[in-house]
Amino acid sequence: MTSRVRRRLVAAAALLPVIPAFAQSRGLTCGERTAAQTAGPFFTPDSPRRMSLLEPDAKTGRLVLTGTVLSAQCRPVAGALLDFWQADEEGRYDNSGYRYRGHQFADAQGRYRLETVLPGEYPGRTPHIHVKVQAPGQRVLTTQLYFPGHPRNRRDFLYRAELEMRMAQPGTGEFDFVVEA
Ligand code: FE
Repeated sequence: MTSRVRRRLVAAAALLPVIPAFAQSRGLTCGERTAAQTAGPFFTPDSPRRMSLLEPDAKTGRLVLTGTVLSAQCRPVAGALLDFWQADEEGRYDNSGYRYRGHQFADAQGRYRLETVLPGEYPGRTPHIHVKVQAPGQRVLTTQLYFPGHPRNRRDFLYRAELEMRMAQPGTGEFDFVVEA
C-alpha cells in the first residue's frame, strides 16, 4: 500500500463516525443494516395502503409506531415502502382478508407512522410485528420488531434485542430501519 493510499484510507475512516454521530444527535440510528428475519407463514401480498390498522372493534392496547427509514450512510429514504402485518389482540392472523395488514410509503424525510394495536401472543412466539421495508428499486428487507422487556422474549427462538422498539411511554414505539438504498 502506498503512503498516499494509506493517507486517503485514514482520512476516509476518520469521516465515517461523523455521519452516524450527526444522525444519533437527531435520535436516529444507522450505520449497520437492520437484521433480516423470516417472514414466517402468514404474509399476504397486496395489503391495502393505510397508516392505521385499527379496526372499529379494536380493544384497548393501542400502539403508535414511528420512525425513519435510513440508508447505511444515514440518509433518509424518501418514499420507502413499509408493509406491516401482525396478529390481532387475541394472537390471530387474518389469513383470508387484510385485518392488521397494511402498507405505506415513508415521507420525504423517510419517516413513517403506524397506528395499530398491541399484537397478542400466540403459541411458541413472543409478541412481534412483521414488516417488509424497501427503498425504491432496491432489495426488500423482511424483519420483525419486538417489545422491550416482554417476559417471553428470552424464550423466543427468533427474538433479537437489536430489533426491539424503543418505548419511552406505553403505547408508543419507535424504530429506525436501515436498508439497502
Ligand atoms: Fe408472526
